[in-house]
Amino acid sequence: MGQAEAALERLGSANRGLQAEIMERQSQEDWQAERALFRAMIEQVQDYLYVKDLQGRFVIVNPAVAADFGCEPDDVVGRTDFDFHPKELAVQFHRDEQKIIDSEEPMIAREEFVITPNGNKKWVSTSKQPLRDNSGRVIGIVGIARDITDRKKAEEQVHFMAHHDVLSGLPNRVRLMDRLTKALHRAQRRGSRVVVIFVDLDNFKDVNDSLGHHAGDVVLRTVAKRMVGCIRATDTVARFGGDEFVILLDDAAKKVTAAVVEKIRTRISEPIIVDDHTFHITCSMGVASYPADGTNAEVLLSNADAAMYRAKANGRDRVQTYAIEMTLAAEEKQRLQEGMRAALERNEFTLQFQPQFDIETGQVLAVEALARWNHADLGPINPSKFIPIAEESGLIVRLGDWVLREACRQCKAWHDSGLPPVRICVNVSARQFRETKWVGRVRKALLETGLEPQYLELELTESMLMHDVPQAVATMRKLQAIGVQFAIDDFGTGYSSLSALKTFPVARLKLDGSFVRNLPQDDDDMGIATAVLSLGRRLKMDVVAEGVETADQLGFLRDHKCEAAQGFLFSPPLDACALEDMMRAGNRQGKLTER
Ligand code: C2E
Ligand code: MG
Ligand code: MG
Repeated sequence: MGQAEAALERLGSANRGLQAEIMERQSQEDWQAERALFRAMIEQVQDYLYVKDLQGRFVIVNPAVAADFGCEPDDVVGRTDFDFHPKELAVQFHRDEQKIIDSEEPMIAREEFVITPNGNKKWVSTSKQPLRDNSGRVIGIVGIARDITDRKKAEEQVHFMAHHDVLSGLPNRVRLMDRLTKALHRAQRRGSRVVVIFVDLDNFKDVNDSLGHHAGDVVLRTVAKRMVGCIRATDTVARFGGDEFVILLDDAAKKVTAAVVEKIRTRISEPIIVDDHTFHITCSMGVASYPADGTNAEVLLSNADAAMYRAKANGRDRVQTYAIEMTLAAEEKQRLQEGMRAALERNEFTLQFQPQFDIETGQVLAVEALARWNHADLGPINPSKFIPIAEESGLIVRLGDWVLREACRQCKAWHDSGLPPVRICVNVSARQFRETKWVGRVRKALLETGLEPQYLELELTESMLMHDVPQAVATMRKLQAIGVQFAIDDFGTGYSSLSALKTFPVARLKLDGSFVRNLPQDDDDMGIATAVLSLGRRLKMDVVAEGVETADQLGFLRDHKCEAAQGFLFSPPLDACALEDMMRAGNRQGKLTER
């Protein structure tokens, strides 16, 4: 400690006065003991400790400081930061210390990033304060610094995790919003454009369902990497959640946007191989740009989302640019969804029934139940409007359940009142059909209403059946086993595989109204109608023609041995009472037999 003592000596005469005073007060031994303690303290403390004079020369340093400088404490004394640190850092230190000396105010816990002379990078928390003699005059600086590198790293990690998606390493929603907001500020100043692209994978669920989450993760990472490869360093790809990504193009011209979007679509659709399986992933994209489509981050994102949604609705694997109508459509949809939820609670849905007639005998064979919704403010809403919305929001499960139950109950009531026993046909939506509990629900509805199962006919569509043929067959068999019948609705509009068709336990095909409308003038429709009729005969399924409106149509159908018909020619959908009256009158025979 000889050096330190000598250094203290050099601190000036004022200091000497202090020493003298101390000497006076204490005995020589006390002084020795105190010095030893002082030495031990500054040697052993883990933090960096130093004293500098007014010129910035080190007067005392502890071993921690010296170790960072790669030398012994004695070698440091008398030198300055300029001898050890890069110039900028030394200038910075010097400036700070000058300020402390001039203002006589301490600097407390400043976090600094330093590169030590031996090349280590570290974060330190530094406090420096003026050192005074006993007259109160500032004679130097006392500094103490603590290594906070570990804490800083942990903080950075937490920060990264809060702003990035762990799976893909991409910025997350929080980070995206931050960048988008900043980009919008810049664009506002410069008068430039900002483009937001919402990307949603089309068939990602299939990957997860077929190969599990591991495969799903690989696909997401691959897609993420491919997208990053399609943009400039100044642009952003963020993972928005699930299989949704958002791309932010800073200052992109329309042409550039179109090129980027096309590149992304192509890149994503390239095959992805996971564990010997090859996936073909496509995506739907929606594009919205500042300032045309919105001026704040939330609006732009939600408009890009609405555009993406339209791309999906238009058949997926495509790009859609935002237009104001989409917001209006989305708002209407939102309104209807809320209305529907309330209507379900308040029991505002009703059923109408449309009969199906045997073309040969004129008998009512069956009655189709059709959902009706009379909105309190908007009036009657068409099922072709509210059914898809119910599907999308999942409300169809509740609505469908209600329809099924109400239809079964009504049919049973007709049977009990002594009317000829007709079948009741109930439309089933894809979402219901795929629900695992659906079979149980149908059984329960039959049980609770007391309707005999052979009087229930469920109408499915081709796409529902073709989506997963074995699953569909299994589901149908369970209900067929108790006597429930099935029909394929809107037949001819989907893409049935004929070989699959014969594996389904289907009793009837309902020839879609669009092929009936132009009978018997249109050659194509005549071709389709006759083909469906002969297919029905081959597969031993009856054919019911839908939407029959004219006697000519009926004539054609009768000539071609179509079994049954439904349509305005016979009866529009009616409420239960009106239909009951009609069945009691049983007077449709005339219309059916006239030509
Ligand atoms: P769909 O099952 O094919 O029902 C036949 C549709 O054709 C009904 O329309 C009916 O009113 C209409 N229609 C009947 N005869 C004629 C005619 O001669 N000419 C014309 N142009 N149309 C005729 P609606 O009631 O508007 O229902 C539309 C669709 O909504 C139904 O088509 C069905 O797919 C769906 N839907 C209705 N109710 C339900 C339900 O309870 N559940 C489900 N999942 N879907 C339903
Ligand atoms: Mg139907
Ligand atoms: Mg139909």
